[in-house]
Amino acid sequence: MKALVKTAAGVGHLELADVPEPQARPGWVVLAVRYGGICGTDLHIAADRHPYYPPVVLGHEFVGAIEAVGDGVTGWSAGDRVVCEPHALFCGHCDQCRRGLVRLCTSKRAPGWGIDGAFAPYVAVPVALLHRVPDEVPDERAAGCEPAAVAARALNRVGIGPGDRVAVLGPGPIGILAALQASARGADRAVLIGRDVESGRMRTAAGLGLECATGIDGEVDVVVDTTGSNAAVTAGIAALRRAGKLVTVGVGDDTFAIPWRDTLFRSVDVKFSFSSGYDDWRGVLSLMRRGALPAERLTSVFDLADWERAFAAVADRRVSKALVRPR
Ligand SMILES: [Zn+2]
Ligand SMILES: [Zn+2]
Repeated sequence: MKALVKTAAGVGHLELADVPEPQARPGWVVLAVRYGGICGTDLHIAADRHPYYPPVVLGHEFVGAIEAVGDGVTGWSAGDRVVCEPHALFCGHCDQCRRGLVRLCTSKRAPGWGIDGAFAPYVAVPVALLHRVPDEVPDERAAGCEPAAVAARALNRVGIGPGDRVAVLGPGPIGILAALQASARGADRAVLIGRDVESGRMRTAAGLGLECATGIDGEVDVVVDTTGSNAAVTAGIAALRRAGKLVTVGVGDDTFAIPWRDTLFRSVDVKFSFSSGYDDWRGVLSLMRRGALPAERLTSVFDLADWERAFAAVADRRVSKALVRPR
């Protein structure tokens, strides 16, 4: 089969190559991929700025239908539509795994960089990480589960609820999906903050009914940062009420300077959020089923053969989220 492979270590080394079709080993299934989503991580792997184990098929965000089941798999059958948490090869017995934090297991190797991923007609994944896609959720929407679950994890880290005034920094897919979920959870206001309200991504967000602005107006209870930028986080902390909360999912600046004493005297909570877990995926699929998270409205679809154009569109921010279709 033709798959998008990172063939070797270094910058570039991405090509559409012939690779063997995956087999369903015990406890695993093979999915026929419907869509794979391109995200910033894929651009970082292309640029050699994220870990990977070459040669490896890229693609960690995907929706598919079960094609084959391995020995010992019960409760799943061919044709079931599924999405999959990306924590393949978690060990199951370390301290993090025993606490249910398989996303933080040091043995984890996600499809798309640790093991072969979904920019291919077929991908093999462990059943322990599957979620069934409800009938009401179309494939193009379900393809957004992974970034939506990353956003959900951030919201769960700070516990957003009814009445909260929320600012979400950064209008990328995770920012938009975080603001939509904050609204769905009853936030009083969930304002998406970006540099330019006329940019394509901010217009997409406004089209989804989100309030968009170039700066935080007044005091907020919670800031959700998706930028990882020191300047953005500093502005976010300054806008928090006393005992307000900031959570970040932004992979950005390596080191930060923050106004330490002001932040301390106001007893602000700052949290870091990485990856996603079972509860996050479950919540996302529920919101998607109810129509509160129309992730498909962020997407543009490309054929896998057209992957270079799709990667360029994401890098140039001409699209919010590019999906590739392997067949
Ligand atoms: Zn991603
Ligand atoms: Zn483990």
